[in-house]
Amino acid sequence: MKLRVDEDELAACVACGLCLPHCPTFRVTGDETRSPRGRIAAMRAVHWGGMPADETFVRVMDECVQCRGCEPACPSAVPFGHLMEGTRATLAAETGYQPWWRRTAYRLLGHHRLLVAGSRALAVAQRLHLTPRRLGLPELPLRSAPLTPSGSDVWLFPGRVMDAWQRDVHRAVQRVVEATGTGVALPGRGSDCCGALHVHAGLRDEARRLALRVMKSMPGEAPILVDAAGCGAALKDYGRLVGTPAAELFSARVLDVHEWLVPHLDALPGPTVSSRSAPALVAVQDPCHLRHVQRTHLAVRSVLARYTALVELDDEGLCCGAGGAYSVQQPELAGDIRARKVAAIERSGATVVASANPGCMLHLAATGIAVRHPLEIVAEALDGR
Ligand code: SF4
Ligand code: SF4
Repeated sequence: MKLRVDEDELAACVACGLCLPHCPTFRVTGDETRSPRGRIAAMRAVHWGGMPADETFVRVMDECVQCRGCEPACPSAVPFGHLMEGTRATLAAETGYQPWWRRTAYRLLGHHRLLVAGSRALAVAQRLHLTPRRLGLPELPLRSAPLTPSGSDVWLFPGRVMDAWQRDVHRAVQRVVEATGTGVALPGRGSDCCGALHVHAGLRDEARRLALRVMKSMPGEAPILVDAAGCGAALKDYGRLVGTPAAELFSARVLDVHEWLVPHLDALPGPTVSSRSAPALVAVQDPCHLRHVQRTHLAVRSVLARYTALVELDDEGLCCGAGGAYSVQQPELAGDIRARKVAAIERSGATVVASANPGCMLHLAATGIAVRHPLEIVAEALDGR
C-alpha cells in the first residue's frame, strides 16, 4: 500500500530516538511500536517494504494521540503530524478504518441544529442521572442565551461543540477582548465546525468541505480569534488543507486569543483589589495544539500572570491524553496518560488548572480537578468576583 505522505518527510527520520521521552503512548507502555520512531518504521515498512497494513499496523496508528509532542523534540524536524494525517487518510480511504457509524458521528458535528438538539437531549439525560459519570461531561445547559456581537474589529470563532457545551467560556473570552476596547464580530451559519477532528480521523474531504464553509463565514481582513487550541491549530492549517491562496490568506488572519491579547495587555484593566487579595495558585496545562503545533503557549502565561499566581508543572508539557476524540476511542490509554498529568498537578500544589482547550478541560475535569479556561479566570478578575 502506498501511503498518502510526502516521501521526503517519511525519509527524514534518522531513528535517533530523542522523541521517545516526549511521546505519551511510549511513556505509559514502554513499547517501541507505540513510539514516534516505531510508528515511522511501520509506515516505511508499509509504504516501501510491501508490509500489509494489517490489524497491528492500524492499531498502533490509531493509538497515537496526535499530540505532536515528538515534533519539537526532533533534531531532524520530522513533521510527524503530516505523516500521521496522511497515513490515516490512506487507511480511511482504502480500508475499513473508519466504519460507517464513526463517519456518521463525524458528519453530525457539522450540523448545528442536530448538535444543539443532541446536546439538549444529553442535558435532560444528565438531569435525570442517566449519563455515566465516567464520561466526565460538564453539566450541559438546557438553554443558553446566544452571544451578542459588539463590533467588527475582530471575529471570535465559536466552533460548534464548544459553543453548544461551553458557551460561557466564549462569553468570558468576549468580555476580556471587549475590555481592551475591541469590538467583537460573530460568524453565522457556516462556522459550524473547524474540521480538526475530521483531519485527525483521516476524513480530509469532509474537513475540506467544512473549511470552505468556515472561510466563507468570516470574510474581510479582520483578525480571527480562537479560544480553543485544537480549532486554532486547524484554522491556521487551512492553507495546507485547502491548498488555495485564499485559504493561505485566511489562515494568516487566525490567532489564538492569548497570542492576540499579549500586545493588547496595556489596554486591559488590571485586577481589582478584591481579586488581587486572594489569588488562586493556578497551574497552566498546555494543550498540545497550543504548545507543539501553534507554539504560542507562553502567551497564556503572559496574560494570566497579571491576574493570578502561577505554578509550572514539572512534566515538560506531556500530553494529558484528551486528543480530540481520543479519550472516547482509546479510554484506557487516555486514562493512563491522564494519570501522569494528574500526578504532576498534585505535585505542583495548584488549586486550579487553566487550560485553553475544551477537550483537555473536560478530560481533566472528569477526575474532579477544578479546571477553567484561562480567560474565565481573567474575566472573573476583571469583574472583581
Ligand atoms: S503524535 Fe504524540 S502520541 Fe503520536 S507519536 Fe508523536 S508524541 Fe507519540
Ligand atoms: S527524534 Fe526525529 S529523527 Fe529522531 S527518532 Fe524521533 S522522529 Fe526520528
